[in-house]
Amino acid sequence: MGKIRLLNDSMIGKIAAGEVVERPVSAVKELVENSLDADASAVTVEIREGGLSYLRVTDNGCGIDESDIRLAFERHATSKITKEQDLFSIQTLGFRGEALASISAVSHVVMTTRTALRDTGVKVVNEGGRILKIEEAACTVGTTILVTDLFFNTPVRKGFLKKDSTEASAVHEIMSQFVLSRPDVSFRLISNGKTMLHSPGDGQLASAALTIFGAKAMKSMRFVEGHSSGIMLKGYIGTGENARGNRGQEYFFINGRMMHSQLLSSAVENACRERVMIGKFPVCALHIQIAFEAVDVNVHPNKLEVRFRDESAVSEAVQSLVLEALKDTDALSKPVEMQLTPDTVNNYIQPVPSSADLRDALKHTTAHAFVTTDVSAVPPIQADRNRSESAAFREASEMKPFIRPVTDFDLGKAQPADDGLSVKKDCEKAEQMDTILRDLPKQIRIFGALFNTYILAEYDNQLIMIDQHAVHERLLFDRLMEEHSSQHNGQELLIPIIISVSSKEQQLIEENRGVFESIGLVMERFGEHDIAVRTIPVVLGETQTADFVREAIDEIEKHRTVTFESKRDAILQTACKHAVKGGEALTEDQLRSLLNDMIEKHVTPTCPHGRPLVVSVSKREIEKKFKRIQD
Ligand code: ADP
Ligand code: MG
Repeated sequence: MGKIRLLNDSMIGKIAAGEVVERPVSAVKELVENSLDADASAVTVEIREGGLSYLRVTDNGCGIDESDIRLAFERHATSKITKEQDLFSIQTLGFRGEALASISAVSHVVMTTRTALRDTGVKVVNEGGRILKIEEAACTVGTTILVTDLFFNTPVRKGFLKKDSTEASAVHEIMSQFVLSRPDVSFRLISNGKTMLHSPGDGQLASAALTIFGAKAMKSMRFVEGHSSGIMLKGYIGTGENARGNRGQEYFFINGRMMHSQLLSSAVENACRERVMIGKFPVCALHIQIAFEAVDVNVHPNKLEVRFRDESAVSEAVQSLVLEALKDTDALSKPVEMQLTPDTVNNYIQPVPSSADLRDALKHTTAHAFVTTDVSAVPPIQADRNRSESAAFREASEMKPFIRPVTDFDLGKAQPADDGLSVKKDCEKAEQMDTILRDLPKQIRIFGALFNTYILAEYDNQLIMIDQHAVHERLLFDRLMEEHSSQHNGQELLIPIIISVSSKEQQLIEENRGVFESIGLVMERFGEHDIAVRTIPVVLGETQTADFVREAIDEIEKHRTVTFESKRDAILQTACKHAVKGGEALTEDQLRSLLNDMIEKHVTPTCPHGRPLVVSVSKREIEKKFKRIQD
């Protein structure tokens, strides 16, 4: 007796459904994609208990004609492709004709739908893949699909699902991707009766990004726009305080489709390296337009991987465009905002933004994206941001060296060993502070240094705190980079410094000679176990040399496989750290020039390791705390 038997339709249906509908979120994804393919401009998703007991998708798309109803629920029935050729130029999100069949095979479905050509709509009831009823129904143009009791007939699948809240966050996540991918569509997500997301659908990427990242983050996010090497890039990027502990909020859309790409992640992370603390990741929503033939997109619904024909060109283009966008970030115009009142907003689920939020966030983000337009609206110290690059470079190169002899006036004596944690008792200082103030731009009023570390000032209706060590480090780093790019050869030591190293370290130095020399560090083999350091980076004090060289070798060891640039940057950061240590306390003059430089050079608002330079508390926050105004 033979053992092989044909499967019946119900079993075929369940097996196929398992591939398409793994979890509630897969059903949401399929149904929303159908709505988008139907040209909807508004899509509402409502879920209860993570979508398992109740999941409804409503759209105002083209609807399904009565005559197509039965076919729509058939497997491999689609209106989206007609000939084989179409497979190679797919413009729609779906085309396999499996979603409705698969979802209905494992749930109860009620669909109401109407096209613009008909006066009335149709209501269809489908249970476990069988159409039970089709009747006339009064409804507006568009489609509503209600899915209840998902996996009622596949209990094993149901058993594998995670907690309701996990399923709900997965739905939230996919809806966030839809919002960012289609700013022209208004999406709404309601979970257990609560509106979790609502995007305006006004076609502005800024509004979509605001919906996902929230008003607070948007104020400090940067707008990226430009083209290079055949790609067009547009979007928002957040670093510093906005950075996250994982890559979950790095969103890439290639020709409108959400995609994951290690290559793009690395390009963006490289560009943000100095602005994001180690172990953190930037947040971004970046749209990339690229010729279809330049990408290989695996359009399997669950595999959103993309491959590029010319990987290095794409990587370099993205990196340089993001860098460019981050370049003129200004520490004073975008300080990290500190809230004195508790933050009641859950980080993951953003509140629905009000139109006031929207206006406010857009005002901030666009003002910095298009700095050249309205100079009158920008405070005077920023007004000269339009001066030419060469003028800025000239000024920079004329600047006095940073480290000078220590004087009696010694605001920063406590640094850096205890990094300002010990409070200096004698206050001679308010008066002398006044002298510092004289030369600073009028808009900034300085009160003193808190814990000998944070300069306190009033600026633009905010109390600002400036981390003097971090600013110092940033300025040194920028100087090192400048010296590096102008082929500065470092300072030659009168007497070489001899450092003993292992043979493995000797070899590492040998292999990376180019990297070391590029920053002005020249070393030679000196006997079997020693090296002689002949030239060191200009900013580095001699006393710090041995420690610096050791750490630089460690860095190289850690970054063995990375590019020349990454190795170089790692060493530059190390040099900075040691230069700050070696620089001892800041004098009055130094403090003054520190702030002046920070303002005039529009330095990057983080130290080279990603710590913020300036933290602000708004006047409003303070007034709230003193109960002068209500929340
Ligand atoms: P596919 O999307 O791959 O074509 P589906 O099973 O998802 O397959 O849908 C089958 C067909 O039903 C679609 O081709 C489309 O014609 C129609 N359809 C499904 N959902 C909608 C909707 N929300 N609005 C209009 N038509 C829809
Ligand atoms: Mg579909």
